Amino acid sequence: MSDPQSWSFETRQIHAGTSPDPTTGARALPIYATTAYQFRDSQHAADLFALAEMGNIYTRIMNPTQDALEQRVASLEGGVAALAVASGQSATTLAMLNVAEAGDHVVASASLYGGTYNLLHHSLPKLGVTVSFVEDPDDPENWQSLVRDDTRAFFGESIGNPKGDVLDIETVAGVAHRNGVPLIVDNTIATPYLIRPLESGADVVVHSATKYLGGHGTVIAGVIVDGGTFDWTRGRHPMFTTADPTYHGVVYADLGAPAYALKARVQLLRDLGPAVSPFNAFLVVQGIETLSLRMERHVQNAQRVAEFLEARDEVDRVNYPGLPSSPWHAAKQKYAPRGAGAVLTFELHGGREAGQRFVEALELHSHVANIGDVRSLVIHPASTTHSQLTPEEQLTTGVTPGLVRLAVGLEGIEDILADLESGFRAAKGA
Ligand SMILES: *Cc1c(COP(=O)(O)O)cnc(C)c1O
Repeated sequence: MSDPQSWSFETRQIHAGTSPDPTTGARALPIYATTAYQFRDSQHAADLFALAEMGNIYTRIMNPTQDALEQRVASLEGGVAALAVASGQSATTLAMLNVAEAGDHVVASASLYGGTYNLLHHSLPKLGVTVSFVEDPDDPENWQSLVRDDTRAFFGESIGNPKGDVLDIETVAGVAHRNGVPLIVDNTIATPYLIRPLESGADVVVHSATKYLGGHGTVIAGVIVDGGTFDWTRGRHPMFTTADPTYHGVVYADLGAPAYALKARVQLLRDLGPAVSPFNAFLVVQGIETLSLRMERHVQNAQRVAEFLEARDEVDRVNYPGLPSSPWHAAKQKYAPRGAGAVLTFELHGGREAGQRFVEALELHSHVANIGDVRSLVIHPASTTHSQLTPEEQLTTGVTPGLVRLAVGLEGIEDILADLESGFRAAKGA
């Protein structure tokens, strides 16, 4: 068989990480609904527990269905290993705690998904990890100026949800590496079909697989991908270079390229426990098998919707990096030449009230707190996804009072536009 890594993206999204089931011949990925795995003998059991041999012990830390998902996403992102977890939130949490513990510091873009903003702003500080936010992440100086002696990582979203800003991955990774820290990128909105952050210098990628990887609004899951190229021995990450007493003194940096993914699995997933169910891992794998096809159509529909909205008198502003009017259009051309994803926001004339009437009038669009579904979705972020943030915090994450967020689906474009037209009629009555 040819080297799977030489296959095209389209081939790998179907074949990477799976082969016919050796026991049954089942061609599709089996759902291994088992908690534990029979050891061959006591020596085998002892070797697995000592990490002398890698193998299945217990589904909280490893499972063949999860493994297929991990290998597939690692292949598509160009990483050396991946870890599937229960949600995008747990992916970000583990990705952070894998490099930063109490007393440590992280520098993050301020343009973030609301849940990530809360995690970084409130929950991580409660665990002793402080975070500084880069208000204008487009200027690399702003990242550099927040670096301290205890900084352990940089964090940003490849395409910000919902702001639609495109992270200059190459430049920010350069600043991170000059300071001896890794860049962790949330690639949820772009997916590896549109942007592969590791190829531009990022070190770790996280996903809410709930969104475009799963793709059908049926599952909650997350993935962490290890690029395998960061040197953990440069002095800022003693947790990689000192012995872990919970694994007979293993030094993670000695484990080679996938040190980061291995540590996240055998230490954090073992102890904190946000395992993805094999059934959910299976659903995400099903979604990934059509990822390129769905993303092509998502992007095509989103571009049409963005252009339609921008031409309307009732719309003050459309935020979509696929539009030449976006401040991030040049960055989009560089990092996401195939398209800027399918999440866009716009500001209606008439502010909050017009925005809410617009959302309520839509029929084809589902009014839900989600993105990355085959169905077109709509929400008013200020009163929902970002409502736990203060008005000032909302503004730094790109959320203005009259902002409407669309996650453009895969329906016929004429039907999507006709539904939006009915929203404009309702908003006019406001
Ligand atoms: C939804 C989302 C998350 C959180 O993922 P869950 O699977 O809902 O836990 C993280 N980052 C981004 C960009 C998201 O859109």
